[in-house]
Amino acid sequence: MAVVELQKLVKDYAGFRAIHGVDLRIDDGEFCVFVGPSGCGKSTLLRMIAGLEEISDGELRIDGRRVNEERAAERGLAMVFQSYALYPHMTVRENLAFGLENIKTPKDEIRRRVDEAARMLQIGDYMERRPKQLSGGQRQRVAIGRAVVREPKVFLFDEPLSNLDAELRVVMRGEISQLHRRLGNTMIYVTHDQVEAMTMADKIVVLKLGTIQQVGSPLDLYNRPANQFVAGFIGSPRMNFFEATVAEQARGGIVATDEGGRRVEAAVSPERVEPGAPVTLGVRPEHLEIGSERGHPVTVETIEQLGGESYLYCRDSNGRPITVHKSGQTRIRAGEEAKVFLPAEAIHVFREDGSALER
Ligand code: ATP
Repeated sequence: MAVVELQKLVKDYAGFRAIHGVDLRIDDGEFCVFVGPSGCGKSTLLRMIAGLEEISDGELRIDGRRVNEERAAERGLAMVFQSYALYPHMTVRENLAFGLENIKTPKDEIRRRVDEAARMLQIGDYMERRPKQLSGGQRQRVAIGRAVVREPKVFLFDEPLSNLDAELRVVMRGEISQLHRRLGNTMIYVTHDQVEAMTMADKIVVLKLGTIQQVGSPLDLYNRPANQFVAGFIGSPRMNFFEATVAEQARGGIVATDEGGRRVEAAVSPERVEPGAPVTLGVRPEHLEIGSERGHPVTVETIEQLGGESYLYCRDSNGRPITVHKSGQTRIRAGEEAKVFLPAEAIHVFREDGSALER
């Protein structure tokens, strides 16, 4: 069992509030990802849980027990750092064993755990090498192995894949997910990469300026972003946004007019938006239809044909950029005019304060 609870957690750095009273519950066995742009406080929050950063206010509980005052080593956690933090003068085997020797674990127990971690992470072939004789991906496996041998209640990962190239990141992403399925531990993982968050998390916590914007499963966040920030952050390429004004409440939604005076229907609950209210409409690139007879005219400026999918970067008559993602290939060519249709059920509507209307 390892439930991690944050209650009104605050972090102040000499007059600067980095974390503003965060409430969060991470369930036993959950893979929870903290994601957000640079400076949003995700590393600070993880380091507070780890015991590497003092908690200014609020309470941190692990399995119901307050741990604010406990030292890092007493909390039953193990952290994997972006920088790997391996001992350069020790072999892989010594790096793996070191933490256990420090706490006087019996020798045969150390050997059992080190061999098991080596097997699990496929690092058995280079146990006698030193870190500088390993590739980045191998080093990161050793760093993860060092956490695994400690058999912690909770694993903490601070951007562990940022130093790896794109291809290796995809491989390691899969391996960490597999490790989670095998071990079943609670894992907390920090990244600024929303694709990592979407592919690995049971639960995503989106942060901005030290506050939680939304907590949910990857598809919750994709399908029902609570506000414009989350809508713009989750999903790649980013959601398209248009300024508009509510014209009328209609059957099953609202009608809004955009800057060019064009009418757009949106299938959202019309609660608490009055005609005349300024709103922002959002629609994901993959939900736009391009190339049929209906919709708004655009100029297609650039096309990326990847074979299995295509990206069309367009501009509408108001000069606004619109990105369209189409599965498969397109016959449209750069420089052509086309029509882009916004299906009513795919449109997100955000009030002036950024909050989303329910869909
Ligand atoms: P990144 O992805 O760039 O690492 P982050 O979301 O992890 O960003 P944090 O490192 O947690 O962000 O920092 C959150 C805020 O706290 C930032 O505004 C940062 O400048 C500030 N901060 C972090 N550490 C300190 C410190 N030791 N003293 C003062 N301010 C700090």
